[in-house]
Amino acid sequence: MIVIENVAIATVDASDTYYADGHVAVGDDGRILSVGPGASETAGERIDGTGCLVTPGLVNTHHHLYQWATRGLAVDQTLFGWLKALYPIWGRLDADIVGAAAAAGLGWLALSGCTTSMDHHYVFPRDGGDVLEAEIAAARQIGLRFHPARGSMDLSEKDGGLPPDNVVEETDEALAATAAAIDRWHDPSPDAMLQIAVAPCSPFSVTSRLMSSSAELARSKGVRLHTHLAETSDEQDYCRQHFGCTPVEYAERVGWLGDDVWLAHGVHLDDSAVARLGATGTGVAHCPSSNARLGAGMARVRDLLDARVPVGLGVDGSASQEASHLGEELRQALYTARQRGGPGALSAGEALRLGTMGGARCLGRQDDLGSLEAGKLADLVMWRLDGLGHEGIDDRLAALVFGPAAPVELALVGGRPVVSQGELVNADAEHLAREAGRAHRRIMTAAG
Ligand SMILES: [Zn+2]
Repeated sequence: MIVIENVAIATVDASDTYYADGHVAVGDDGRILSVGPGASETAGERIDGTGCLVTPGLVNTHHHLYQWATRGLAVDQTLFGWLKALYPIWGRLDADIVGAAAAAGLGWLALSGCTTSMDHHYVFPRDGGDVLEAEIAAARQIGLRFHPARGSMDLSEKDGGLPPDNVVEETDEALAATAAAIDRWHDPSPDAMLQIAVAPCSPFSVTSRLMSSSAELARSKGVRLHTHLAETSDEQDYCRQHFGCTPVEYAERVGWLGDDVWLAHGVHLDDSAVARLGATGTGVAHCPSSNARLGAGMARVRDLLDARVPVGLGVDGSASQEASHLGEELRQALYTARQRGGPGALSAGEALRLGTMGGARCLGRQDDLGSLEAGKLADLVMWRLDGLGHEGIDDRLAALVFGPAAPVELALVGGRPVVSQGELVNADAEHLAREAGRAHRRIMTAAG
């Protein structure tokens, strides 16, 4: 058992309870025994949290870990220009490159306050080996809770799509591989460390048949659905030309609105689209830094929240957001909302809620993750806020969200430390960096 004491706590419970000086006690079952003010009576290993703030672990709701191997390319392009530059390189992916990229990306996420991450993987080269298995092995090594979404693309240039022929799969082949991934890996239990989602890539790289068959497959297996939607104005034009409707109208047509669906980006939404997402309980993974890097626009987060849309935060793939630091997305989300709607558009507490409970709702884990309450899984982060960058900022929550990226002193996943005293517990960061550099050189050399 672990007891953290002498610490500020932002619980993100339904009342946003905050303790300026409190404790969190964690049981041997990996769940929270108690959280409250003052010291704890519970016996167990004591951790002194003086100078720190404990929050729920951050939940990353959109990522492409393999892109860690292809960062820093096509840096001044739009989404479509960037994709066209990178697809040929991604065609050379294999399990070795994906494993090294995923371990580096997940290690970095852990150090940025993330305890649960999804990954949207949609490139499966024919001779690339088992890339899904490689990233699952990486997540097990780092110790994060992992929700890989088995992606797919079956609409290449010759059929009017954006990707070249050599990075897409046959429709039925993609569906069969996705079903097999669910059967092999998905754990439906409340304590699950690994859950699979079904995730065809985007309207301009996937046929309507793969979209609707994927929805049927996910619902028959009881797993969740994820895809990119309404990211750019180019995508909006594509949907208008090819389907005669908006991206959200297209999603509805192929069975893709519902409380078992969360969509990456949701930037270009009109009022009726926002209302449809809210009425159907469809979630949105808000990726403000990626949207800024690609100049894609700013999501209507305030309007989405007011329409009761579940909104989580995502770093998005590391090739379109080289920082990939989930803690920084709290501030980026706050800034983006305020650029649209003024200083009242999002508070620090609301930004933290996006990164925690909002993400848990997107992944369907809100009963077990997303807030610090007795009985929930002990996925938490203790941020150090008494160093040069933060000491003296008037309150701890403001220090975390408005201040510079805060060092993670401790991160627990199911009560098990994955970061301790600012270092990864289960991997060596320098080794991860060397392997990531090697993966980058391999894919670039092969692509050349
Ligand atoms: Zn993405």
